[in-house]
Amino acid sequence: MKAEYDVVVIGGGLSGYVAAARAAERGKRVLLLTDGLGSFPFLPGHIDVWGWAPLEKSPMVLDPVQGIGEYLRSQPDHPWGRLLDVLKESMEFFRTVCGSQGLVYNPAAGRNIMVPTPLGMARPAFMAPESQYVPGWDAADKVLVVGLAEYKDFFPLAVAQGIAGSRPARDVRTLTVSLGLPRHVDSFTLAGYLERDECREVFLNRVADAADGRSLILVPAVFGLEAAAKVLSSVKESLGVPLMEVSTLPPSVPGLRIYAALRRWVMSRGVTVTANVRVNGAWFSNNGCAGVTACISGREHKFAASSFVLATGSFVSSGYSWQGGQPVEPVMGLPVTLPREGIEGVDGPFLDGKGKDFMRVGIEVDDNLNPTGPSGEVICKNVFITGSKLAGYDFSVEKSGTGIAVASGYKAGNLA
Ligand SMILES: Cc1cc2nc3c(=O)[nH]c(=O)nc-3n(C[C@H](O)[C@H](O)[C@H](O)COP(=O)(O)OP(=O)(O)OC[C@H]3O[C@@H](n4cnc5c(N)ncnc54)[C@H](O)[C@@H]3O)c2cc1C
Repeated sequence: MKAEYDVVVIGGGLSGYVAAARAAERGKRVLLLTDGLGSFPFLPGHIDVWGWAPLEKSPMVLDPVQGIGEYLRSQPDHPWGRLLDVLKESMEFFRTVCGSQGLVYNPAAGRNIMVPTPLGMARPAFMAPESQYVPGWDAADKVLVVGLAEYKDFFPLAVAQGIAGSRPARDVRTLTVSLGLPRHVDSFTLAGYLERDECREVFLNRVADAADGRSLILVPAVFGLEAAAKVLSSVKESLGVPLMEVSTLPPSVPGLRIYAALRRWVMSRGVTVTANVRVNGAWFSNNGCAGVTACISGREHKFAASSFVLATGSFVSSGYSWQGGQPVEPVMGLPVTLPREGIEGVDGPFLDGKGKDFMRVGIEVDDNLNPTGPSGEVICKNVFITGSKLAGYDFSVEKSGTGIAVASGYKAGNLA
């Protein structure tokens, strides 16, 4: 079968889109097959490289490269051990691609910055969009936290308490304004409303008096989706006060902004994106993977290529399933590794910060992100594994998921 594409990327989450973008930038003919939005609606907008040191008593990390280095000494198989070589260039690539679509990230300074959580407490992140990080925000004295009456997933009082708690002398006020919408709306719908001039006008009129004399205004991160840059700069200009968006509960508009920016960019570079397609199998030749199959509108389709990026995510995105008490990789049948200590601790809330053994389930790879078998032998030289498919890490305790997705997607796009 003649290959129409050089690279087929399977999975359209963060790592799959970055892999497609990098391969396209290298002049490859790329097809991206995906079944859904992946984790984008959960992403807070920041890029996390390494925020917490799981083995330390005081775990907050300010220097992620140093933190990763220390962790790798006892856990050499952690994915960062194979990705540190592309950390800097992959972050710059991501920043350039997003920036070209109007989603501007502050340059990574190499050290973590502190950003507010939906509860107002500060937490470390490697890189943040300009709208979600105003340098010096945590020193602002007169803060106004604005909520929206129609939006129930943002809690101005909790944010205000979180911020005031970190420095009690601060003057932190809250205000909840109605946009005059007929009903409660989700973040995604609200972002669409706020792209309309008349809706923003209502917001500005209701906030103007309270904004007077404040040194910082915090709002939920819902101020526009595709047109967010324009929306935010017009609000900032009208209020005349620094404005910062705080990430919200899912669906997260900043995550969807990343999705929109990456998708626009890859399509402008000729990547064919086929959404709502579930890849259900692969066939192999002596040279490795020869192609993948998918059922589209009731008919089986075959996609041959020279290289494949397997970016189908973990359990949350159905990138793995459980069969007979074992994790299974359903597209290529690659071996999936369990943590050495086995699987325990699936009880308790998913993101309770304590970590879950099943998060570390995944495919083992070599330095080129090629899948390896039980003795470390490479299984397929033309298959590259990215993001949350990789074995041996737990983003929920490390605050590393988006960083690993960007770095591994970039590296796979380099090698595929
Ligand atoms: C609730 C939640 C909160 C999180 N918060 C953070 C955070 O604050 N900071 C952080 O750094 N990380 C966070 N993460 C982790 C982060 O989202 C992931 O590590 C990262 O986004 C994974 O990207 P990915 O591309 O590997 O996979 P995914 O985003 O899971 O994408 C996989 C894609 O593959 C598709 N797919 C799966 N199987 C197939 C198939 N057979 N055929 C075609 N397509 C298929 C899926 O539909 C999906 O589009 C969070 C994750 C979750 C679930």
